[in-house]
Amino acid sequence: MSIFDTVIKGGLVVDQGAILHADVAVKEGQIAAIGADLEGEAKRTIDVHRKYVLPGIIDVHTHPVYLDDLQGTSEAAAHGGITTVIHYAYAKPGTGLMEAINQFRQDGESGSVLDFALHGGLFDPEHQAEEIPMAVAAGVTSFKMFMTYAKLKWMTDDYQLMRAFDIISQAGAMGMVHAENGLATDYLQDKYLQLGRDPKEVFVATRPAVLEAEAVNRAIAMAQVAGCPLYIVHLTASEDIEVVARAREKGYRVFGETCPQYLTLTSKEIFAQGALAKIGPPLREKRDNQALWKALAGGVIDTIASDHAPKQKTKEDDFFVAAYGSPSTETMFPVVYDAGINGGKLSLPRLVQVMCENPARIFGLYPQKGTLQVGSDADIVVVDPALTHTIEQKTQHSYANYTLYEGRTCLGKPILSMQRGEVILEKGTLHTSPGHGKFLRTDTKDSAEGFFAKKKQK
Ligand SMILES: [Zn+2]
Repeated sequence: MSIFDTVIKGGLVVDQGAILHADVAVKEGQIAAIGADLEGEAKRTIDVHRKYVLPGIIDVHTHPVYLDDLQGTSEAAAHGGITTVIHYAYAKPGTGLMEAINQFRQDGESGSVLDFALHGGLFDPEHQAEEIPMAVAAGVTSFKMFMTYAKLKWMTDDYQLMRAFDIISQAGAMGMVHAENGLATDYLQDKYLQLGRDPKEVFVATRPAVLEAEAVNRAIAMAQVAGCPLYIVHLTASEDIEVVARAREKGYRVFGETCPQYLTLTSKEIFAQGALAKIGPPLREKRDNQALWKALAGGVIDTIASDHAPKQKTKEDDFFVAAYGSPSTETMFPVVYDAGINGGKLSLPRLVQVMCENPARIFGLYPQKGTLQVGSDADIVVVDPALTHTIEQKTQHSYANYTLYEGRTCLGKPILSMQRGEVILEKGTLHTSPGHGKFLRTDTKDSAEGFFAKKKQK
């Protein structure tokens, strides 16, 4: 009779498209057995009757360079039931790509409380893209460029984007874009600001969804010509979805991500919360929320991630001077669970797919992460579907002095999580220390082929 380290007993296991009444046994950091009424002694038994047992949640879109550093971001994420994070290693102009990656990896290995991987973020691909093969060899295999923010000098033009995709393709890696038409937006902004209109109105009017969809389409076309798979971060609008759906019908290797804020908030927040609700791309309309939920349920959008980027600002700040971004990793799961599951937009197995399985598959971490199979890392989240709680900035763990969800009541919350078999979150308290997290090498060489081949079988 085998002796387990821990048995998670009597819960409803949600994994691989199904919900199963089963116990989960953990041994030496891995899933050792799954089944009804598992026999065998355990050092600890955790009774999870009437609770859901999910694979650890993976947040593949975080920016640990603002109010929350890498340690702080991982702590906020861990409080939200996340067990693996993929951060953007931002290489600002004048910094080498490998220099940035090495620094982020070092910060993570000394400070992260969660297992983590990295994407490259290239602000100056003209001088940084040659380092992409080196990054791939170092276990960083996805690379983001901005198609917008020309005024901030963050924008990659089409010449450099095409070149970067070409290099990414030859390196067997994955391209990523923030898709908005930067120059068109800047022209419109200059024009409308001269008219002396309300900056909030100008912000919304100068970033129409169709200019995002145009950039999505352009990036897809260029990645297709270069021959690299493409992952489009934070899709926000129904116009985007039409473009992505059309590309997927043609068999293009395109992945789509959206975020809790684009699923649950609208441009009304920009007028209610001022600069706090300044994020890029902007919050859109109710019909877009609905289209995104539908695309998630129907398989056109593959992942939900947070885009956690807490900045120092207040509601009253000058709107165009204030920074883009908001905290969102800790609130991600409860907000999506409440709106998606309790709101009847998404099935629970599909939620697990878009927050656990797909992120792991797309970035080559599966089945070590993203699933509860025998031999997988024992990264586990227990969710109490009957726990009601209200989101308030003062109980959040980000250093941000605001949350866009202040006062929102959610039903359902992660109450316990494990990383590699150790309990790291229990009843709101973290039991893990900086440096506990391990660096994970991603691998996107064949992940798109695998992902779409599996989709076809269904
Ligand atoms: Zn982002």
